[in-house]
Amino acid sequence: MMRQYQALKAEAQDCLLFYRMGDFFELFFEDARIAASVLDIALTTRGEHGGEPVPMCGVPVHAAESYLARLIRAGCRVAIAEQVETPDEAKVRAKAEGSPVSKALVKRDIVRFVTAGTLTEDALLEPRRANMLAAVCEVRGTIGIAACDISTGRMELESAEPGQMAAALARLGASELVAPEDWDLAPPDAIGRPRQSFSSEEGERQLKAIHGVATLDGFGQFDRAMLAAAGGLIAYLEHAGRGTMPLLLPPVARDGSGLMAMDEATRTSLEILTAQGGGRAGSLLDAVDRCVTGPGARMLAQDLAAPLFDAGRIRERLSLVRRFQGDPLLRADLREIMRKLPDIGRALGRIVAGRGSPRDCGQVRDGLGEARRIGEMLERQEDRPAMLDALLPRLSGHGALVDLLERALVPSPPTERQNGGFIAEGFDAALDELRMVSGNARRAIAALESRYRDDTGIASLKIKHNGVLGYFIEVPSRHGDALMAPESGFTHRQTMKGAVRFNSLQLHEEASRIGEAGGRAIHAEDTHFEMLVGEISARREAIAATADALARIDVAAGQAERAVEGDWCLPDIVDEACLEIEAGRHPVVEAALTRAGERFVANDCTLGPQDRLWLIGGPNMGGKSTFLRQNALIVLLAQAGCFVPAKRARIGLVDRLFSRVGASDNLARGRSTFMVEMVETAAILAQAGERSFVILDEVGRGTSTYDGLALAWAVVEAVHETNRCRCLFASHYHELSRLADSCDALSLHHVRAREWKGDLVLLHELARGPADRSYGLAVARLAGVSPQVVKRARQVLDKLEKGRAETGGLAAGLGDLPLFSAALQAEEAEQDALRDAIEALDIDAFSPREALDELYRLKALASKTAS
Ligand code: ATP
Repeated sequence: MMRQYQALKAEAQDCLLFYRMGDFFELFFEDARIAASVLDIALTTRGEHGGEPVPMCGVPVHAAESYLARLIRAGCRVAIAEQVETPDEAKVRAKAEGSPVSKALVKRDIVRFVTAGTLTEDALLEPRRANMLAAVCEVRGTIGIAACDISTGRMELESAEPGQMAAALARLGASELVAPEDWDLAPPDAIGRPRQSFSSEEGERQLKAIHGVATLDGFGQFDRAMLAAAGGLIAYLEHAGRGTMPLLLPPVARDGSGLMAMDEATRTSLEILTAQGGGRAGSLLDAVDRCVTGPGARMLAQDLAAPLFDAGRIRERLSLVRRFQGDPLLRADLREIMRKLPDIGRALGRIVAGRGSPRDCGQVRDGLGEARRIGEMLERQEDRPAMLDALLPRLSGHGALVDLLERALVPSPPTERQNGGFIAEGFDAALDELRMVSGNARRAIAALESRYRDDTGIASLKIKHNGVLGYFIEVPSRHGDALMAPESGFTHRQTMKGAVRFNSLQLHEEASRIGEAGGRAIHAEDTHFEMLVGEISARREAIAATADALARIDVAAGQAERAVEGDWCLPDIVDEACLEIEAGRHPVVEAALTRAGERFVANDCTLGPQDRLWLIGGPNMGGKSTFLRQNALIVLLAQAGCFVPAKRARIGLVDRLFSRVGASDNLARGRSTFMVEMVETAAILAQAGERSFVILDEVGRGTSTYDGLALAWAVVEAVHETNRCRCLFASHYHELSRLADSCDALSLHHVRAREWKGDLVLLHELARGPADRSYGLAVARLAGVSPQVVKRARQVLDKLEKGRAETGGLAAGLGDLPLFSAALQAEEAEQDALRDAIEALDIDAFSPREALDELYRLKALASKTAS
C-alpha cells in the first residue's frame, strides 16, 4: 500500500493527496501535518516508514466537501485518489496475475485535482462571486492572458504590454493563476506549468476542437499571445480534471479598449469588490448590490471591475436601469420571480463537466421555464429600451428541451443519481412496469407480515430491511424458539440482543423480485439521465446566453432598486473633459453614517477645461478623502452603467481612473511606505492624459516635511502642465495654495471646520478658497491625545511659526524652547499650587464677601495655570 501511495503522491506533486480507504480519505506524512493544522483535526500515526511512525489524519468521505472547502480557502490544492475497483475485482485481478489473493490491494487512481480555480460544486463556490482561473505567458514581448470561470464556462482572452500585465490580472481577480515554470516575469503567486503547454498552435487546435469549428474567426480576433495563454489554460484544465474537460464557452477577445483602465493600486484604494480588510463588507460592491440572484451579483461585480469606456454601451445599460426605475410594479414583480431562480449557469457547468446531478437538470428545467415567463412578461411592456429588445430573444427558444425535462423528471429531483427515483412516472412505460413489479412485491411483503402475525400469533413480528441482510423477519427473543422449528417454514439468520431474525421462502422470492426490478429500473433511469445530460450539453451555448440575459436583467433591476432607495440619479455621459456633480455622496460612508443615525453632507464637484485641478485643504477628519473617493466612485459607477449617488451628474467619459493615497503601506511587497507612494505617483505622471481622472490624497506625506512639500508641489505642477487631466488633490501643505497664482486651471478649496467653545466642529462641507489654518492640534485633542501633549505641541507650533516668520527657517526658534520635561514640571508645580490653595480654604470662617474675593483669587490662579 505504501508503494501505491508513494506513486500517487509523486503524481500529485505539491497537492495534498486524499487517499481513499473505505469510508475515509486519509492523508499521510507532511500532507497529514498540513491538513491536521488547517482543519484542526487529530493527527495520529499509522504503521512505520523508515523506522519512524507515519503521521496520518483523515476525513470521512460523506463530509469531504466541507473539509475541501476549508483547505482550498487556506490556499491548498488537493488531489483526490479514489478506489477504481471493488475489493472483489481486486481479488479476481490478483488471482489472474498469480499474486496472493488475500493481500490483493484495491487499485487507486487520481480522479481529479481540486484547486481554487477548478471548482464546480455549489458547496465550494460562493454564489455571488465569479471564480476565475487564469493563465498568463509571453510571446515575443506581448503578454497573453487566458481566463475562464469554469463554473459557468465564461472564457476571455486578452493581450497586453508587459507593463499592463499587473493591471489586467488585477481586473480579473483570479483565484488561481498558472504561468510557464521558467518565466522571469511570472507573477509570484502563479503556479508553474510546463512551458510547452503554452503554445499558440496547441491553444488554437484545442479551441477549435472544443467548439467544433474550423476557424476561430467567428469568435473574434486572437493573437499568438492570447492563443498561447489559452493553450496553457486548457492544458491545466485537462490536467486538473484528469482528461474530462469542464464547460468552456467560445472565448471572447479583450484588448482593453472599450474599458476604463484602472491599475491594481487604484482598485485596492477604491475598495471596489473588497474592502481594505479583504472582506466584501465595506466595499463599493456591497454598498450597491441589490441583485436577487447569484449570477446577477457576479455580473455586477464584473461590471464594477471593468467599467466601460464607450458612451454608447454605457447609455444602453443606463436606459435599461432607467426603464426599471420608472416602473416600480414591473420591478417588484420581476424581482419576486427572479428571487426563486436557480443558478442555471453553474448547474450547466456541472452537467457539462460530468459532475451534474438530477437536481442540476431540474434546475435547468425550472430556470429556463422561468426565463420564458420573464421574457413574456417583458415583451408585454411598452417603450422597451434597445437593450431589452436585444435580451428578449435569448430568454426563450428552449421549448423542446424544457418540455422534455418536464416530462422526464420528477418535480424535485435528488442530488444523488445512483439511487434513482428522479425519472417521472409516465415518461417510460418499461420503467413504470419495473416500478410496478417492485411496488407489487413491496405490497406482497406487507401482506406477508400480517399473514405471519396471524399464523404465528406473534403480534410483534415485523418484516424489516437493511443494507446487509436485505429483507428479514424479526421477532423478540422470547418468541425466537417458536420459529426455530424446521416445520415452521422459517430459516434462522441472526440472533441479536433482544431479537431473532429469520428468512422465509416467500419473503425471499418477493425480495428478489424487488431486487431484480430495482436494479433494472436504476439502470433505465441512468440511461435516461445520460440522454438528458446529452440534450442539455448540446444546447450549452444557448442556455449560457439565457443565464447571462437573466443576470443582466437582475443587475439592471437591482440598480434601479438601489437608485430609488438612495435617491440616486441617472448620470449624463458626455464627450468633453468635465465632471459636474451636484450634491454627490459617498455610497459606503453614507451607508455607514445612516446606520449610526448620522447624516452625510453632500458636496458638489465641478471640474472643466478651465478649472480641472482642485487643491483641497482643511482639517484632518474633515472629509477630504471621502470627497475625493466619492467622485472617483461616481465616475466608476456611471461608466459601469449604474445610477450614481448625486442629485445631478454630468460626466465626461474617463479613459483612465487613478486613485492614490499617500503613505499607504505595502509592506507585504517589501517596499517602504514612501517608496510605494512614489512608484505609484510615477505611474500616474507617466500615464494620465487629458481624458483621465486622478485623485491624489496627501501625496508626499511619507517623507520629511520639506521633501514632501517639494514633491507635492512638483507633482501638482506636472499634473497641471503636462498631464492636463481632471484631478482632485488633497493636501495639508498650506504652502501649495501659492500654486494658484501660477496655474490657471487650478483652484483652491477646503473642507470647513469651526472652533466652537474650544471644541472643533467638523462641517464636512466643501468651500472655495484656501484653508484658513490647520486644525491638527484640535483633532489630536478630539482623538484623546493627553492635554499635556497637546499643550506642548501648541508651544512648539508657536515657536515654529514665530521662527519661520522671523528667519524663514522652519526649525529656527526651537533652540530656546524649554525641554518637554521641564515644561511639564513647571505645569505640575502650578497645578499643585492650585490644589494647595483650595485645600487651605477654611470655608466656615469666610463672610460672603470674603468668599467672593477668594473665588476671584482662585480663578486668577487657574487661568494662570491654563495659559
Ligand atoms: P485625514 O486628513 O485625516 O485623512 P480627511 O479629511 O481625509 O482626514 P476623511 O477620512 O475623508 O477625512 O473623513 C473622516 C470622517 O469624517 C469619515 O470617516 C466620516 O465619518 C466623516 N465624514 C467625511 N465626509 C463626510 C460628509 N460629507 N458628511 C458626513 N460625514 C463625513
